[in-house]
Amino acid sequence: MAKTIVKIENLVKRYKELIALDHFSLEIKEGEVFGLLGPNGSGKTTAINCLLSLLTFDKGTIEVFGEEMAPDNYKVKGQIGVIMQNVAVFDELTVYENIDYFCGLYIKDKTLRKKYVQEAIEFVGLENFTKFYPKKLSGGLLRRLNIACGIAHKPKLIILDEPTVAVDPQSRNRILEGIQELNRQGATIIYTSHYMEEVEQICTRIAIIDKGKNLAIGTKDELKKLIRNTETITIEVLDIPEEAVTAINGLEHVYETSFEDGRLTIRCSGGRHNLIRVLGVLSDREIPFGRVYSEQPTLNDVFLEVTGKELRDTEGK
Ligand code: ADP
Ligand code: MG
Repeated sequence: MAKTIVKIENLVKRYKELIALDHFSLEIKEGEVFGLLGPNGSGKTTAINCLLSLLTFDKGTIEVFGEEMAPDNYKVKGQIGVIMQNVAVFDELTVYENIDYFCGLYIKDKTLRKKYVQEAIEFVGLENFTKFYPKKLSGGLLRRLNIACGIAHKPKLIILDEPTVAVDPQSRNRILEGIQELNRQGATIIYTSHYMEEVEQICTRIAIIDKGKNLAIGTKDELKKLIRNTETITIEVLDIPEEAVTAINGLEHVYETSFEDGRLTIRCSGGRHNLIRVLGVLSDREIPFGRVYSEQPTLNDVFLEVTGKELRDTEGK
């Protein structure tokens, strides 16, 4: 059984009247890439800040590496690497100096530190920018610097809070691959995002959070099994009579049918030949149709069933 690295129990955090975390619990084991997936404002950053003892909270307990977390628990803090949502580097220090500064908070031995700083630079691919000041870096390169500063001291637990927001696709892929590489090298990872595709791609387990509550937790396959949706069929049709929609909705295994903006969306639970039977309803009535898709459930479908709203709709807001 893998060691427990983080254990949060019944955490409650209020900002005045607002309940940012509402009896929030989770347990993270050694070696995981653990994803906190939730829309903006769901409480991800608040949970991270409580975990790091940067915020006080109203109720609950937090243990990291088996010890109670506290602001002065430097032994535990030294084993954590943090990459905050808002890039936090010194504008008056170069890339090299920034990484050296943050690494120096934990690694006092100069020879070792030089090696670690160099490794961090290579890891994020900033070899050609070591003498640059942060202001001269693009958004993606700045993110990579932020990451290098957080990981140079080789922490056992690495927390990344939305590290890919406003990052170009190339840097984004590099960041996601980098996270997996850090994990292969032995680090346990906590990764927050509101992009379900990223979380699906890299996380071993995922907690779906909304309004400060941990609504569901598991591997992506476990989460998808929690819901009744097994298939969503989308068909492009110019127009469709109400009677045909009702007929489709009456098919076995179909539990929801909607028509909007030239797209017919059919949600199914179980069954094997749903698409064929749906198309049968259309061809019986000689209703022309365009493109047809059949999709397996995504984390968006899980989110939809546990919260009643789309995760996609909340992006960027
Ligand atoms: P996320 O990181 O998932 O976007 P946050 O943890 O930043 O969510 O925010 C959770 C909720 O707490 C939001 O409703 C947000 O507006 C509120 N909040 C966050 N920080 C503060 C603060 N310092 N004071 C008051 N409310 C806050
Ligand atoms: Mg946040």
